[in-house]
This record gives sequence, C-alpha cells and structure tokens, in this order.
Amino acid sequence: MAGGDCSEALDRLFEYIDDELPQEEVQKIGAHLKSCPPCEAEHQIKEKIKALTSRTGGDKAPEDLRARVLASLRAVREDA
Ligand SMILES: [Zn+2]
Repeated sequence: MAGGDCSEALDRLFEYIDDELPQEEVQKIGAHLKSCPPCEAEHQIKEKIKALTSRTGGDKAPEDLRARVLASLRAVREDA
C-alpha cells in the first residue's frame, strides 16, 4: 500500500497533533498529509482548533468555534 490511507490518517489526526502516536505512525501520517491536499487541509483546520482551544484552556473545541474556523478557512480557499 503506497502513500497511506485517508480514513486512517483522518481518524488519527487528533492523536497526531497531540503527539500521542508512535514514531512510525507519525511518519506514516506525516507522509500521507504531504501527498494528500484534502487531508492536509483537514490537518490545518484541526491544528487551528487545537491552538484556539489550548489558548482558552478548554480541551474540546466548542461546535460554534469549530464552525467559525471552518468557515474562515473555506473563505480563504475560495479566495485563492
Ligand atoms: Zn488523504
């Protein structure tokens, strides 16, 4: 299997971002993100959500915050 698998990468994004995966999984998912723009976009969204929620001290993204981040990212992408 070359390049990894989208559902597996997406499934593990939060663990990947939180640095909770073994090194070989980190490398596999990192390689997949580099070769797969849709998954990389999802990765960027989750990184932003994590950054925002850690700044406010929560450990889960409130739905409205997630919706706002998604909307702003989509606006950026539609502009490009
Ligand atoms: Zn993918």
